[in-house]
Amino acid sequence: MKKVVVVGGGAAGMIAAIKAAQRGNKVVLIEKNEKLGKKLFITGKGRCNVTSNKDIEEIIQNIPGNGEFMYSSLYTFTNYDLMEMIEAKGVKLKVERGDRVFPQSDKSSDIIKCFEEYLKENNVEILLKTKVTDIIAKDNKIIGVEINNKEVIKCDSVILATGGKSYPGTGSTGDGYVFAKKLGHTIVDIRPSLVPLVCKEEWVKDLMGLSLKM
Ligand SMILES: Cc1cc2nc3c(=O)[nH]c(=O)nc-3n(C[C@H](O)[C@H](O)[C@H](O)COP(=O)(O)OP(=O)(O)OC[C@H]3O[C@@H](n4cnc5c(N)ncnc54)[C@H](O)[C@@H]3O)c2cc1C
Repeated sequence: MKKVVVVGGGAAGMIAAIKAAQRGNKVVLIEKNEKLGKKLFITGKGRCNVTSNKDIEEIIQNIPGNGEFMYSSLYTFTNYDLMEMIEAKGVKLKVERGDRVFPQSDKSSDIIKCFEEYLKENNVEILLKTKVTDIIAKDNKIIGVEINNKEVIKCDSVILATGGKSYPGTGSTGDGYVFAKKLGHTIVDIRPSLVPLVCKEEWVKDLMGLSLKM
């Protein structure tokens, strides 16, 4: 049995940990926050727009840049697979305008609870309030991760799911870029997307909370 460490307990890390465990690995999920899915909790104004009900081809066409890059991941674990996985735990979903999928309860916490249930049932060990401070490789092979600048957890593989760099208050502070770069990966310059913008015009504040239908 191989030991897999997943760094980051957001949406990606939780699903990666569940899938790795279902494939017979011993999995440890490490999250620096006091709970899992802190960003997931605030998504879709707390309702969580889980996925889209559109065809994968249409989703790929709507990805800016090189959408085909997502081809294999989107076909390996599809939007419909995700919906099935969630509904299998009794969390009912609904489709809204624009084919956006939400939990019927309008509560993102139901999605987090559903993933937590899968993690538990697949015996994933969860370490909260634990920060990965280094990924250790020897002879071009991953051998472990360092946590909290001291202890080392040995493992055979690491899945980096540390998120991007937006909304650092939720934990995504860009640590993954540093780890990946140190391990020899090329990191392209990151740019903001769908994030708050700061501007000097005062009147913009009066528009706060106003949203328009597209
Ligand atoms: C306000 C808002 C609303 C959104 N609404 C939607 C929506 O409705 N639908 C949608 O699909 N997307 C939405 N998004 C985008 C979505 O939240 C992200 O794409 C998604 O959370 C990314 O998941 P992730 O697991 O990759 O990263 P994250 O959710 O950022 O998770 C990364 C995790 O890694 C942890 N971590 C980082 N570094 C370390 C470390 N060194 N050691 C241990 N742990 C570490 C972090 O604490 C964090 O919990 C929204 C985003 C925001 C900000």
